Amino acid sequence: MLKILRRIVQEMNDAKNLEDSLQILVKQVREVLETQAATVFLIDREQGKYVLMATDGLNPDIVKRISIPLEKGLVGQVIQREELINLENAPENPHFVHVPEVREEPFKAFLGVPIIHQRRVLGVIVVQQEDARCFDESEEAFMVTLSAQLAGVIAHAEATGAMLKLSSVEGSASQDRFEGASLGGIPGAPGVGIGEAVVVYPLADLDAVPDRKAESVVSELAQFDMALSQARDEIQALKGRMEGAIAKEEQALFDVYLRILDKMGIGDEVAQEIRDGQWAQGALRTVIKRHALQFEAMEDDYLRERAVDVRDLGRRVLSHLQARQKVTIQYPEKTILIGDEVTASALASVPEGRLMGLVSAQGSGNSHVAILARAMGVPTVMGVDDLPVSHLEGRELIVDGYYGQMYVSPSSELREEFLLLAEEERQLDADLQSLRNLPAETPDGHKVSLYVNTGLAADAGLSLSVGAEGVGLYRTEVPFMIRDCFPAEGEQTKIYKQMLAAFSPRPVVMRTLDVGGDKPLPYFPVEEDNPFLGWRGIRLTLDHPEVFLVQLRAMLKASEGFGNLRIMFPMVSGIGEIDEAQRLLNQAFQEVTEEGFEIQKPTVGVMIEIPSSVYQADEFAKRVDFLSVGSNDLTQYLLAVDRNNARVATLYDSLHPAVIQALHDVVKSAHAQQTPISICGEMASDPAAVILLVALGFDALSMSAASLPRVKWVVRNFTVEQARTLLAEVREMNHPTMIRCHLELALEQAGLGGLIRAGK
Ligand code: PEP
Ligand code: MG
Repeated sequence: MLKILRRIVQEMNDAKNLEDSLQILVKQVREVLETQAATVFLIDREQGKYVLMATDGLNPDIVKRISIPLEKGLVGQVIQREELINLENAPENPHFVHVPEVREEPFKAFLGVPIIHQRRVLGVIVVQQEDARCFDESEEAFMVTLSAQLAGVIAHAEATGAMLKLSSVEGSASQDRFEGASLGGIPGAPGVGIGEAVVVYPLADLDAVPDRKAESVVSELAQFDMALSQARDEIQALKGRMEGAIAKEEQALFDVYLRILDKMGIGDEVAQEIRDGQWAQGALRTVIKRHALQFEAMEDDYLRERAVDVRDLGRRVLSHLQARQKVTIQYPEKTILIGDEVTASALASVPEGRLMGLVSAQGSGNSHVAILARAMGVPTVMGVDDLPVSHLEGRELIVDGYYGQMYVSPSSELREEFLLLAEEERQLDADLQSLRNLPAETPDGHKVSLYVNTGLAADAGLSLSVGAEGVGLYRTEVPFMIRDCFPAEGEQTKIYKQMLAAFSPRPVVMRTLDVGGDKPLPYFPVEEDNPFLGWRGIRLTLDHPEVFLVQLRAMLKASEGFGNLRIMFPMVSGIGEIDEAQRLLNQAFQEVTEEGFEIQKPTVGVMIEIPSSVYQADEFAKRVDFLSVGSNDLTQYLLAVDRNNARVATLYDSLHPAVIQALHDVVKSAHAQQTPISICGEMASDPAAVILLVALGFDALSMSAASLPRVKWVVRNFTVEQARTLLAEVREMNHPTMIRCHLELALEQAGLGGLIRAGK
């Protein structure tokens, strides 16, 4: 059964469009269950109806012509109840609605199964049979499993199909499926961005190659030929190396590979696609997918497995093509980066001033790329379910980072609307510039220090221009991530010196290398089942003192002549790690002073971002000079919700009552030891949360430079007394959403609504 299911889903995935995909579905279901009719209905929420989208067994002429109000009929019942309905004699059921054009009179048995994606019913699959009988348990089980697997495919179709306007699709084949589409994701960084889509994709990933027009068919053909022949040479060499090592029959496999890579194999087909106007990479993707699908559809296990080989061969040719066609991306004046997984280096590659927005299919609001985007003030939407990446290159996009929404090829009215909102945003930011030299002080005189989080030296100018009092978190892993090997001590010293010099005399908190989890180093891969619970942060650096000591020495050397260095350890889970890290820091200090550097001992802090550290905060506070809460990880670990997983993103909320309680306890523990405490997670840039952080007594907040003026605006608008009243009110509440609404209402009432939505 698993094989059949996999085959159906695969075929649907590879279909050209929604219509073909659904037709494959009903045909396969009818065959597999040996029934007389299989039909799929999808919901058109805008119209409040469900639409018959494909059928094998009912009247084919009514496809997309029949739409029924959501609450009507047996299908309506399946939708309302969100569970399957299995009837021996459907026409006798009081909910049965007779629609003559459907021609279902001969059928009695009815099994309707809902298609549900992320708690939302998207449609219903129905199978029918003439005999009056109930479908048996195995048939039910098959349909439920199939439907669960299909939900993702249909959600994707719906995402692009929201544009398809289900009930008015007749004759729309030539219509642009993406025009006017609106796709929802998770807010990544606030703001509104309008620009042209530039698709970024990982190399040698066939699925990620976008459609693109061939600029010169002749040159694409020549490059493809070369890549193909290089791949063939490679296989030939492999074959030679294997001679004698494997049996003759297995050797023959290499001949099969060579034939596939022959001109007569995929060669001609790819060439034809290129002549039809595709660039070589896109043509290769189409052909390889087509061949792999043919293998996957085979009943024979051995042959089906060959699909893997075809994909592998495709990747080989692609890697040669990509080495040859080193795409120099042309970034338009207003670029919106879009990709399945947009990386920090892709973001950093866009020339200054051109990046207007970012959309990523994977990740959530607390992924590191979203944090970087916030740092750079780039409106961002993350976790856009089934983003049709390969079809968006060059299109005009609008990114609404407040609501996590993007719009493809918008209508002129929508564009006008968003241009207006963007202008209001710009105006608001300009107005907030006037706060630059004013203190971050509540109206009743309580001062809170505002620092910036940074990872790129280029941020320094922006940070200072918004009036940052220093750096509360310098993520040193960023320079490690955008290189291809560990930076040497001299190189690191230079980078850190730039940072210390740019902010001097203001303090700079440098966090020691925090890689692992979702921040792998390309040149230091770590394979783990649970990377977030694994070898990351201080755990990794303590295990590699040779890396740790180089970093500490570089920081210390860089501080000579400045004296504004503070060092902070990430991901600390217990006292032992602090003691060991301090021991290594002392060793580095001694070495560097012995080398003749005249430096002061830096102040040292630890991050509170693991639940155990909340309970040991008082012991930590006795050992170090300051504490800083990493609310991104603290929320993730307290709530056991992966901060990058779009599926559980709605559960990830730093305004969860348990998180607020933890923050309360940590501030108390720190202050009991007279140890200052700051917060450097994203919570510190969330205007609603800021009110609570002030009330809880944090001494400093550290956030992206782009957020700082907005946070200052909040601080300057709420007295400590008002903030404490709001804190007391929300501490009576049990739900993060209620807490957020309550705080956002307070912002609106104080005239600060522009902080939580587009416009002023
Ligand atoms: C945090 O976890 O809140 C934090 C500031 O660190 P990072 O986001 O880099 O893990
Ligand atoms: Mg962290």
